[in-house]
Amino acid sequence: MEDCIFCKIIAGEIPSTKIYEDDDVLAFLDITQTTKGHTLVVPKKHYRNILSMTGEQSAELFSKVPFIANKIVNNLHAKGMNILQNNEEIAGQTVFHTHIHLIPRFDENDGFV
Ligand code: 5GP
Ligand code: ZN
Repeated sequence: MEDCIFCKIIAGEIPSTKIYEDDDVLAFLDITQTTKGHTLVVPKKHYRNILSMTGEQSAELFSKVPFIANKIVNNLHAKGMNILQNNEEIAGQTVFHTHIHLIPRFDENDGFV
């Protein structure tokens, strides 16, 4: 979709640090590293947010999350992870292409409450 920053990342028009990729999903580091390893998981097909997706479409996306989350936790030796997802401006969504935040948590105070 035109003017969608995540579609441009998926198309390789904007650089990103890729964590995982398959035919349907891309995971890449968030430009703002809330904690080290903060990653966004996005469907390659453009949807505005979860409210625009069917159960099947969102299930396909979420089905990839445990594998990607474990990969990050294991590689970074994180102690846990917050998994967050914002829908519409009032809920904090700033990029209108569905994405899931994976935010690893560590022992040290990382400033994220
Ligand atoms: P939201 O607030 O919509 O849930 O999250 C959007 C996220 O996209 C933010 O955490 C923001 O840092 C991230 N973001 C915005 N623009 C870019 C970009 O160009 N590259 C990457 N890697 N992340 C971005
Ligand atoms: Zn898009």
